[in-house]
Amino acid sequence: MKFKEALGLLSSLFIKLFGISILFGLIGWSFGLPILGMCLIGFIFNFIVGTAFTYVYNYKHEKLIAEQNKALLEYESKKTAKVQCAFCHTENIVPIDLSNTKFKCNKCHHVNRLIVTFDAAQITVPQSTDDMIGRAVET
Ligand SMILES: [Zn+2]
Repeated sequence: MKFKEALGLLSSLFIKLFGISILFGLIGWSFGLPILGMCLIGFIFNFIVGTAFTYVYNYKHEKLIAEQNKALLEYESKKTAKVQCAFCHTENIVPIDLSNTKFKCNKCHHVNRLIVTFDAAQITVPQSTDDMIGRAVET
């Protein structure tokens, strides 16, 4: 975060926190209650509600991100390829993971290296972005 953004955020937080507490004080004062006491109550109330709201929002946001990551991992784990071991020619089912191109044979336990290649595709008709996403995800 840049300094200017941080300053903007801090000033808006300051204005909200103190603005609402001053408003509380003025409303209380108009009903004949002590202005400073009502300001303090407004400040505390606003602080507690704001903190609770931020906490709940962050919790929900983190939960959503965790669910998305889980779904992504599940999807990634479904992409597999049948490959033969270079040593004993046994067929192995290997997950396609571009960050790890080695696999261990289930039968002879030798480490094999997997070379992944992609065939080129040519798009001949204009397609919507949704179609293209669907095609990229398809296996
Ligand atoms: Zn093998």
